[in-house]
Amino acid sequence: MAGGMNPKAYHLGLIGYPLTYSLSPSLHQAAMQAYGLVGEYRLYPVPPLPQGQKMLQTLLHQMRQGVLNGLNVTIPHKQGVIPFLDELTPEARAIGAVNTILNRDGRLVGDNTDAMGFWSHLTSLSLINRGGKVALILGAGGAARAVAFALLQANWALIIAARRLEQAQRLAQELTQINSSRALSPNIVALPLEQGALRESLSQIHLIINATPVGMPPDLDQSPWPQGLPFPPEATVYDLIYHPPQTRLLKDAHQAGLHAVNGLGMLVEQAALAFERWSGLPAPRELMYRALGA
Ligand code: NAP
Repeated sequence: MAGGMNPKAYHLGLIGYPLTYSLSPSLHQAAMQAYGLVGEYRLYPVPPLPQGQKMLQTLLHQMRQGVLNGLNVTIPHKQGVIPFLDELTPEARAIGAVNTILNRDGRLVGDNTDAMGFWSHLTSLSLINRGGKVALILGAGGAARAVAFALLQANWALIIAARRLEQAQRLAQELTQINSSRALSPNIVALPLEQGALRESLSQIHLIINATPVGMPPDLDQSPWPQGLPFPPEATVYDLIYHPPQTRLLKDAHQAGLHAVNGLGMLVEQAALAFERWSGLPAPRELMYRALGA
């Protein structure tokens, strides 16, 4: 079995905080059931560091010992977990965040399946690549970073727009450094998330990605898209939010006649990739989608 997985019992889980509600257990239980595997996927609420450090170390120790076979990591530990691991995959190193931990012969390896999960879902939609390759990313946090990394690998040009311009500039600068090591000249622009700043670039944009939490509860009727700014007519809108399934941004984009999709597919894909890395088995994606009622 790949990734140190014990074929008799699969003890998996998610580290994050707060973890009141997560779709990950349903996804992984569906994958395990498809292969008749015994086991469970538990939620491990670990408070932010330093308060949660002892708990985090205990869970990692259990993983090193093979008591736990695989862990996912979410907010707020995607970066904080890194110093406690033995190595990182090239993706996790480049993105600077870990969402999946693997056990390779007793060594804990931090991986990141968010970027590839996003890319796999996006390319499965056949909505893009009909023309140019310019993406506008709204937000410059952890998810924006993974999405930007995936798009850069496919040689897209990026406009990163954040309410704090300095955050967008910092991300653009870091991504430029990563990408220039591939001997490409990356085309990354940072802008403030404002109508005036974005208006000029509108006609070039083929893909808009919401990587902010705007549109999630309690801001259900809010959209990150600046008021009064028309959508680029040929663009696809990808909202990383999946709860609710139809955000205000997606409703507005549909109404403007654009293709618009939510982030459920990315969630399923990142889970499918994690399952594959832990088990060495092809993930039953259809069953995983069905487990979420999708
Ligand atoms: P994050 O690291 O906290 O970054 C959030 C970004 O949004 C930051 O740039 C933040 O700016 C900005 N932002 C927050 N509130 C805003 C507002 N009211 N107006 C404009 N910008 C605002 O969070 P993340 O991990 O990147 O997650 C972002 C979203 O992606 C969340 O909704 C998350 O659920 C979703 N996500 C989905 C998947 C999936 O599988 N579908 C995977 C990962 C994440 P400040 O720093 O100024 O607050």
